[in-house]
Amino acid sequence: MLPSVAIIGRPNVGKSTLFNRLVGKKIALVDDQPGVTRDRREGDAKLFDLKFRIVDTAGYEDEDAATLPGRMRQQTEAALAGAAVALFVIDGRAGVTPLDEEIARWLRSSDKPVILVINKVEGKQAEDTIYDAFSLGLGEGVAISAEHGQGMADLFEALMPYV
Ligand code: GDP
Ligand code: MG
Repeated sequence: MLPSVAIIGRPNVGKSTLFNRLVGKKIALVDDQPGVTRDRREGDAKLFDLKFRIVDTAGYEDEDAATLPGRMRQQTEAALAGAAVALFVIDGRAGVTPLDEEIARWLRSSDKPVILVINKVEGKQAEDTIYDAFSLGLGEGVAISAEHGQGMADLFEALMPYV
């Protein structure tokens, strides 16, 4: 059985885009509208010579789910429970949001290894976020562009100890 990697994060940060890139197919629906990933999707992922299961979660589509034990949060917890490591994705263009901080707090209190992923870093708009993301207490983070395929070697290095 392949080790499993869960993609966690608030709506619209690019979780499904990253999932599709790692699976190499457009399985997950990518949309500008939050709430498009209704349930969790799994696929066989490949990143250079790493092979693993990847789970895309609807996660925190319902903003209330961050503070209430809602269905979406339960689903995220279920995905996390079976995972060797979590990829916690934030939006480098939007900056660190209160919901990101809430999810980070929750992830820090779980004993799962977490890799912070700062997405949408193509161009210069994300430089402040890369700096601010330190405040999430999850380390430096890996800067990527899921859409353009940037940062995949850094993501590989971050995942390698876990999968
Ligand atoms: P999810 O809700 O977290 O699953 O996010 P999606 O994967 O559905 O993406 C939300 C929006 O962000 C879509 O319009 C994507 O095209 C866009 N997006 C995803 N990755 C990137 C990226 O690396 N750069 C930019 N500029 N946009 C991205
Ligand atoms: Mg999605």
